[in-house]
Amino acid sequence: GGDGALLRHLCRKLRASGPVTVAEYMREALTNPAQGYYTRRGGIGESGDFITSPEISQVFGELIGIWYISEWMAMGKPNTFQLVELGPGTGTLTEDILRVFNQLSSVLSKCDVSVHLVEVSPKLSENQAQMLTGGKVQPSPRDESAYMKGISKTGIPIFWYRDIQDVPSGYSFYLAHEFFDALPIHKFQRTEKGWREVLVDIDPEVPDQLRFVLSPSSTPATENFIQPEETRDHVEVCPEAGVIIQRLACRIEKDGGAALVADYGHDGTKTDTFRGFRNHKLHDVLSAPGTADLTADVDFSYLRKMAQERTTTLGPIKQREFLKNMGIDLRLQVLLQNSRDAATREQLLHSYDMLMNPENMGDCFNFFALLPHHRLVHPDKKDKPEVKSPLPPVAGFNELLLK
Ligand code: SAH
Repeated sequence: GGDGALLRHLCRKLRASGPVTVAEYMREALTNPAQGYYTRRGGIGESGDFITSPEISQVFGELIGIWYISEWMAMGKPNTFQLVELGPGTGTLTEDILRVFNQLSSVLSKCDVSVHLVEVSPKLSENQAQMLTGGKVQPSPRDESAYMKGISKTGIPIFWYRDIQDVPSGYSFYLAHEFFDALPIHKFQRTEKGWREVLVDIDPEVPDQLRFVLSPSSTPATENFIQPEETRDHVEVCPEAGVIIQRLACRIEKDGGAALVADYGHDGTKTDTFRGFRNHKLHDVLSAPGTADLTADVDFSYLRKMAQERTTTLGPIKQREFLKNMGIDLRLQVLLQNSRDAATREQLLHSYDMLMNPENMGDCFNFFALLPHHRLVHPDKKDKPEVKSPLPPVAGFNELLLK
């Protein structure tokens, strides 16, 4: 154990078999089963390494809960759905969503809801169990696909899995908040001799220090992941994000539902975004692996390309626009009116500013959705020539209209 163990493990591996891709390095640093950052540390929140929107304000998760209810209504109120969250962190976001489901239980009364959490970190899954069930969970028998299960404080069954493929099929609403940015990326650099992949190696001058090098020739990844029409000189690609988006798109096409992805990112324009955070400060990505969160901006243009044939996509739309469309201003007014002391009001205004101000999280965070094609376009009208009711607009990407 100890903070140097992962570095020593990586150095042994690099000495034995040469440089590794940035993706392999990132995977080890974040999710190595013994020494990875999420496995051991996973410091989300004020006392940790990075803070996320659900940790800043309960309003964030509440509005996302309303998004699911609004889509559930727009899709004709199916009598059952699964809420599937990828990378639930501390469990706060799910908690806030379940509170909304409980407050609107009269609307959801005839609907059978279950929660399915995809989490690789044993440490964070314990935090989630504590938050959502008060610790009342049991490990699942080996022949079940979930590794743990419990019942939420509001009576909803919750299951934990390591992989999205383990989640049972069925009508599902998916959620990925600050999940895709934690998946391993490959990095590429344009050179005079063509594209080269950026690799991680040991620095020959300094013992136990890592450095970036370029592959001497092209690699399988440079052949497969760089588009011929690419104009940037430096490109980051996250194939694992592509695979997961394709899985979500297949499931939505087959069983119905929707996916909401929220993350910082760009639409295929940014270059070098790979960075580390420790104690809320930027941290050198190559130093002390396993002790800092490593992250890269999500390329939404890549996600859209991976999903498009099977589902419709909406966004990316800026967080401040999405939350405004969802009614955050009205929600803030109600909370301000209901709070008696100045300190609480101050806190409410501060967290609103954190989420909405373009200088804070308002502009750099984006919302992106996958929906079945028929959610936005009526199936061929020739079959049924009679006039159809118009499809309701998708909330968040348009103004919320609850009827
Ligand atoms: N959604 C939360 C947490 C974001 S941190 C929030 O916004 O606060 C990223 C989360 O993804 C953590 O829970 C981490 O353990 C999990 N994670 C990272 N890589 C994963 C993978 N490959 N499979 C499943 N979960 C993963």
